[in-house]
Amino acid sequence: MTTGGSRPGTDGQFVLLLGGTGEARELAQLLLAAQIPFESTLAGRVERPRLPVGAVRMGGFGGVEGLVEYLAAREITAVVDATHPFATGMSANAIAATNQAGVPLVRLERPGWSGRPDASEWHWVQGHDEAASAASNLGHRPLLTIGRQHLAAFVGPLADAEVTARVVDQPDLELPARWQVLHSRGPYTLEGERNLMVDARTDVLVTKDSGGSWTWPKMAAATELGIPIVVVRRHSEATGTNVVADAAAALDWVRTRVIEQ
Ligand code: NAP
Repeated sequence: MTTGGSRPGTDGQFVLLLGGTGEARELAQLLLAAQIPFESTLAGRVERPRLPVGAVRMGGFGGVEGLVEYLAAREITAVVDATHPFATGMSANAIAATNQAGVPLVRLERPGWSGRPDASEWHWVQGHDEAASAASNLGHRPLLTIGRQHLAAFVGPLADAEVTARVVDQPDLELPARWQVLHSRGPYTLEGERNLMVDARTDVLVTKDSGGSWTWPKMAAATELGIPIVVVRRHSEATGTNVVADAAAALDWVRTRVIEQ
């Protein structure tokens, strides 16, 4: 399903913006303001997604082959992969499909938190299984902020813990009786995060290395309250791809690498 109008291209350029992040929405605004024809796409997994400005297509392409076909059918001249740092399946597909189709690709990825001075205090883990095990060793009242897709990894190790699991949409698996599901969506404030952790008597925070400032208040609140933080590392797929860190740099890439060539 596409909303927001048909292809407006006049100069032969048409950008596909793989979205689902604040940075993607920001870039959509910049592209619109710069009058560069583009279309955003969202996976369509969230019930009420925040929509970017401009035309939006909902739903996957059908793997690499589907995306290759889509690039040709829509005569896409450049792709910006602005999906979440943990949406590694889509990023891998974007690399493979643009290589096959000979379409230039840039990865817009906000920097992770690993470079921060306080990061050395955190418990860095390689994946959700390891995060579950670390959380069960560190506390009895974890706050899980890793979304709903990977909650299954925590159910066994934290079956007897007083878990607060914060999610946007209802998880599609049965959760232990002692778990509380908290439906909410950011942005969050430091005060709100502090209140949540105090009220829930949180003794360990579990997060992905999402990076950026959007979800930072929980990290600040946990640090302030002396709560240990388990951080799931990124597994970047962008090796060998152009990578930019913010929407303005992605717009520059679109302009210099695509529009002016
Ligand atoms: P994923 O595992 O990398 O992607 C799974 C499949 O969903 C892809 O193969 C693709 O289906 C479809 N898809 C994903 N992003 C798409 C997009 N922007 N446009 C069209 N199809 C897309 O991704 P995920 O981790 O499930 O994340 C889904 C979406 O939520 C992403 O767009 C991401 O930016 C956003 N998001 C993810 C997280 C997270 O922690 N993972 C957090 C916040 C937002 P086909 O193979 O059929 O093309």
